[in-house]
Amino acid sequence: MGIADEAGWLRKGACRSSDPELFFPLAPSRVQETQAKAVCADCQVLAQCRDYALRAGESEGIWGGMTPEERRRARFPAGWRTPATT
Ligand code: SF4
Repeated sequence: MGIADEAGWLRKGACRSSDPELFFPLAPSRVQETQAKAVCADCQVLAQCRDYALRAGESEGIWGGMTPEERRRARFPAGWRTPATT
């Protein structure tokens, strides 16, 4: 199943009518992040979007109200890697 099939919910995304630059900025900023997250907060498919992005390991852009950095931390929480014992 490709992304277009799996992500049919994307058609219902609140970001469909937003400026793509808000979600996939060339130069991310705190203001842009805040504005994108505000759109996500009112999105009816936020849960599916966040779940997809975390599973797929999307490394770019705002998905499901989360920045790439926030998704990385959610996927690999602090302490997930146990120190090697020698
Ligand atoms: S949660 Fe955000 S990025 Fe995902 S579809 Fe909705 S508005 Fe778009």
